[in-house]
Amino acid sequence: MHELSLVRSLLAQVNRIRSDRAGLAVDGVHVEVGPLSGVEPELLVSAFEQLAGDFGMTGTQLVIDEVPLMANCPSCGTVTVEPVRIRCPICGDDGVTIVSGDEVRLQSVTIQCPEPEEQAL
Ligand SMILES: [Zn+2]
Repeated sequence: MHELSLVRSLLAQVNRIRSDRAGLAVDGVHVEVGPLSGVEPELLVSAFEQLAGDFGMTGTQLVIDEVPLMANCPSCGTVTVEPVRIRCPICGDDGVTIVSGDEVRLQSVTIQCPEPEEQAL
């Protein structure tokens, strides 16, 4: 399943990020999912729940941010959101390059901070 291998590499990426903060729990993993990524957010969540334990991240929450499709027109340089039929709405060129919306990207990782100690006055 596409989502399982995707989540596995995502978790490995998170583990590298927190390797220098050993012992601290990861609260949340934030990812951007584009409409052309071919990823079902619900499947991504269930794959995450299934695999998080293997990476020592039981209880970590996956937060998905669904980003809009954006494309760049090579003829006039317009960057557009949600182009109809992946074509530039300004000049009609259909050779646009997708700028964003075709990927799953790790956005941020929330790592638990130790409780600040109470200070006596
Ligand atoms: Zn154009």
